[in-house]
Amino acid sequence: MRTPIIAGNWKMNKTAAQAVDLVAEMRSDLEAAEGVECVVCPPYLAVPDVARLLVDSTVAVGCQDVYWKESGAFTGEVAAVMAAEFCQYAIIGHSERREYFGETDQSVNSKIKGALAAGLVPIVCVGESLELRQAEKTESWIIGQLHGAFEGISVEQAIGIVIAYEPIWAIGTGLAATAEEAERVCGQVVRATLTELYGSGVAEQIRVQYGGSVNAGNAAELLAKPNIDGALVGGASLKAADFVTIVRAAQAQSRAR
Ligand code: PEP
Repeated sequence: MRTPIIAGNWKMNKTAAQAVDLVAEMRSDLEAAEGVECVVCPPYLAVPDVARLLVDSTVAVGCQDVYWKESGAFTGEVAAVMAAEFCQYAIIGHSERREYFGETDQSVNSKIKGALAAGLVPIVCVGESLELRQAEKTESWIIGQLHGAFEGISVEQAIGIVIAYEPIWAIGTGLAATAEEAERVCGQVVRATLTELYGSGVAEQIRVQYGGSVNAGNAAELLAKPNIDGALVGGASLKAADFVTIVRAAQAQSRAR
C-alpha cells in the first residue's frame, strides 16, 4: 500500500518570519494526520527556520528546486547537498521552472540524480499545456517527460521518487482536472509508463500525486481515486485551514484503503 503524500508548494510566497508563523499554525494538525506524509516547501530563505521548527516533527521539509553540481561557480544556484542539510524532499521540474527558467527534460534528469545522490526524495513534476491537451497530445507529452526524467535511474532509485502529475492548465487557475481525468492520466499514462520502464511490481510502489487547483473542496474526490496517491498543492497550501483539510481528506482515504 502506498502512503499518501501531501506536499505544499509555497512558490515565491512568505518571508522567513511569515513561513514560521504559517507552519506553527498548522503543525499540530498535520502531525495528528497519521498515515499521511506531509511536506511543506517554503522558499529557500525560509527553509532553515522552518526546518528548525520541524526538527522533531513528522512534517517534512522540501525545497522547490536544486542544482546537481555539489559546489562551484554557479551563481544563484543551491546544490542538492546544501538543501539536504535542511530538507528531505525536493520539487523538481515544476512547470513554472520549465516555462520561466528554461528547464528541460535533461536538466530535470540531472537534478533528479543530484537530489538522489544527496539523499533527497525528488517530487518530479510532469504535465501538459492547454495547447497540447487540445491537440490530444497529453499522453505522448507526459510519456516523453517521464522517459527523459527517468533516463539512467535504477529500479532502486525509481521506487523512492514521487511523481506529480500537474496539468499546466489547472495550475493556479481554479480549474482542477476532474477526478476521472486526473485518475486516467495518473493511472493509464503515468503508472503505465512506469510499468513499461520498471515493471508493474515497481510501478505499483511509486507514488503519483495530482496537482493543479487542489483545494479543501475537491481534495476528497481526487484522493479517492486508486491511482492518485496524494497532492501537490500550491495556493491552498498557503492557508493553514485549507491545507489541513486536504491532509485530513488524505487521511480518511488512507484509513478507507
Ligand atoms: C503547484 O504550484 O504545484 C500547484 C499545483 O498550484 P495550485 O495548487 O495553486 O494550482
